[in-house]
Amino acid sequence: MSIKKQKHPETEALHFRINNADTHPVATPIYQNSAFTADSPYFYTRKSNPNSVEFEGAMALLEQANHIISTTTGMSAIMLVLQQLHPGDHLVINQYIYGCSYKLFKRYTKHMGIRLSIVDLSEPSGRESIPNDVSMVLFETPTNPFLKNIPIKEVSEITRKKSVDALIVVDNTWATPLFQNPLDCGADISLASATKYISGHSDVMGGFIAVNNDKLAEALFESRFYSGAIIDPNSAWLLRRSLHTFPIRMREHVRTTQSLYEFLITRNEIETLYYPTTSPEQLRDYGGILFFQFSKEHQHCYSQFIESLTLFDTGTGMACVSSMVAQPWSGSHASLCDSDKNAMGLDTGLVRLCFGLENSQDLISDLETAFMTLKPL
Ligand code: PLP
Repeated sequence: MSIKKQKHPETEALHFRINNADTHPVATPIYQNSAFTADSPYFYTRKSNPNSVEFEGAMALLEQANHIISTTTGMSAIMLVLQQLHPGDHLVINQYIYGCSYKLFKRYTKHMGIRLSIVDLSEPSGRESIPNDVSMVLFETPTNPFLKNIPIKEVSEITRKKSVDALIVVDNTWATPLFQNPLDCGADISLASATKYISGHSDVMGGFIAVNNDKLAEALFESRFYSGAIIDPNSAWLLRRSLHTFPIRMREHVRTTQSLYEFLITRNEIETLYYPTTSPEQLRDYGGILFFQFSKEHQHCYSQFIESLTLFDTGTGMACVSSMVAQPWSGSHASLCDSDKNAMGLDTGLVRLCFGLENSQDLISDLETAFMTLKPL
């Protein structure tokens, strides 16, 4: 490589570049740059970047979607979708929903002049109660908490009969696109927190929105550009890397969850064990997270329970390679006031278990020991 020394060394050094055309990396490098030359299709990283585009391309194949809009977090994906509504519009959300989503809808619909209705979409009467002037219906399936199934096709059909232009939005975080493709079931938008199973390692945050409609995709890309909600190159690179092992991890989560379900269902300390319904039409398989409700005599036992566990970390993180235990009352739904938590059916006896990639027999032994140490009333 010869460098002609015509200018001052500092200027020459400043402009020295390797020839990118000569590099043939087997994995895409991190494009940790904000700007591209005017002839590049990438323009500016707030609009797009090779790493975000590669992550989006891989996600589009998994979600079976025409467009993926990658975002900084799952919450920013939800916020971008909310921004598609206008003052006077009517948003309907499901009663069982992640605490921060619930709080965001309650707070920002007020600021934005959007009417908000909260219904129980897991019940036929709740689905029928969707109002005629609905603009958007948004729900998780399976739900956080309680893993309730919401029939996407039925909600879409009921909603469209009432209001033909209303958007059906599914938060697909817990099902993942490996096991559920909401767009194929009639939804207009499928969104998710990539921080969870897509990352799988608790070391990166991200989100994405999947849509088929070109106009809707354009509006979401534009909202992302002006609000600066695009995923950064490093996070996009990490998530794309995690995608290589995503199906293998998910299949192992399913296997472990089935073994743990069979163990937990035998425990007298548990009053109810929650598990979603799987079917070829919607949720084809499931794994990773279970909820259980302590029996009345064990209602107060959460602190004793987590103290004895050695393989389950505490905290709100989840859906990763190591197991986690949490109490929705004080964790994922802590931002809700007590009356909202009660309306959602939460109390301090509800426990969430997320199974990682440990050997399932070790997890069973750990839980068994913890159950044996509990002191019921
Ligand atoms: N949607 C669901 C169902 C979640 O459980 C979460 C977080 O736990 C989010 C969205 C928000 O995702 P993030 O933490 O990446 O913003």
